[in-house]
Amino acid sequence: MAKIQAVRGMNDILPGEAQAWLAFEAKVEAWLARYGYQNIRMPLVEHTQLFRRAIGEATDIVEKEMYAWRDELNGEDLTLRPEGTASCVRAAIEHSLLHDGPKRLWYGGPMFRHERPQKGRYRQFHQYGAEALGYPGPDVDAELIVMCAALWRELGLEGLRLELNNIGAPQERARYRADLVRFLEKNRERLDDDARRRMQTNPLRTLDSKNPSVQEVLSGAPTMAAYLGDESLGHFEGLKRLLDAAGVGYTLNARLVRGLDYYNLTVFEWVSDRLGAQGTVCGGGRYDGLFELLGGRPTPAAGFAMGNERLLALVAAASEGEAVQALDAYVIHQGSGTLEYALPLAEALRSRGYRVVLHAGGGNFKAQMKKADASGAALALIVGEDEVRGGEVTLKPLREAREQLRVRKQALVPEFEQAMKKG
Ligand code: ATP
Ligand code: MG
Repeated sequence: MAKIQAVRGMNDILPGEAQAWLAFEAKVEAWLARYGYQNIRMPLVEHTQLFRRAIGEATDIVEKEMYAWRDELNGEDLTLRPEGTASCVRAAIEHSLLHDGPKRLWYGGPMFRHERPQKGRYRQFHQYGAEALGYPGPDVDAELIVMCAALWRELGLEGLRLELNNIGAPQERARYRADLVRFLEKNRERLDDDARRRMQTNPLRTLDSKNPSVQEVLSGAPTMAAYLGDESLGHFEGLKRLLDAAGVGYTLNARLVRGLDYYNLTVFEWVSDRLGAQGTVCGGGRYDGLFELLGGRPTPAAGFAMGNERLLALVAAASEGEAVQALDAYVIHQGSGTLEYALPLAEALRSRGYRVVLHAGGGNFKAQMKKADASGAALALIVGEDEVRGGEVTLKPLREAREQLRVRKQALVPEFEQAMKKG
């Protein structure tokens, strides 16, 4: 039979790598809890309309990256979620989560975008996202950024750069957009096809063109800063003051607009120089208009999402060679009645928190002993017919040349604890 392979851009995370994922996830989740963020879990599938409306028609995601289909059974248009903010806000509105005040929420899990797979860019990838819902001030903008800086420290990541921009209020952006379009029209001949197309659909997106010759043209374009009113400027000043107080450095980047339509005021990205073209590990900002756009009451909000694959690539580089999680015991059993005897003993150790593998798959004593050695366990537990008859178990240290010892079955747990301490 022909082999069936995984879908392109959707990767297995194999056991060796999954250890690093587990350690990463444990750190991230503990960190989110330390900042008072509560977990929320939304479905992987939503109505297509949610993303069309929340993310915006003229965005890369909605134009070409969504896994969307018609579910003929129910006559519904559905989409595999490309990001989490839209679902999170939908859920907050649907369940009136803010009825008793603002909420700090986090989610994590797979996201799906039909992009060209390459290093750091996949069709199923994973994000952690944090959303601070119902908070108007720059204090939560700062909190979201400061907490990221703390996570990078904890993960041992150096050299992540914070890029920051203020994209103002919608009316301010509308005036800026009009002038930007006029400028782009004037320079139409010098733009590429992509920029000419975006100029029509989503002119601000021309600003983050990756094409150097387009960037060259844009160096003469008007910048957002000149269009900002006192309120927008004040918000941004407040944020910068708090970042300074926390000792978090940043680079102002007037071209930073982010891919999604729903942002206002603060936008930011954390960027690494060590990941090639896919250098953005985390992006976020304020999105005060999103609740209304999704049928909710006007509610200020801000958040970020980070890409786990990209962060893990950096973590792996930072912690090459860290020990993998090892087994405590490998239980060998050979002869009649030995499995029945060994099984509850393995369970007893596991209930004390030890990592124990009970040999499966048969084989003689020697073959099982080889498996025990190769398993990386600290101790082998040996159960032969002799041990069963005597109501005993043999403990054999595997990592150093110490004598094995035979203990009473009833005393296994304390004897094992003793032996582990010596090892
Ligand atoms: P990019 O410009 O790299 O396409 P984006 O602006 O589309 O990123 P966001 O929607 O802001 O990304 O998602 C937040 C983070 O999720 C990104 O900074 C990145 O780390 C990660 N991410 C986004 N798309 C992918 C993908 N296809 N594969 C892996 N990680 C991704
Ligand atoms: Mg993208």
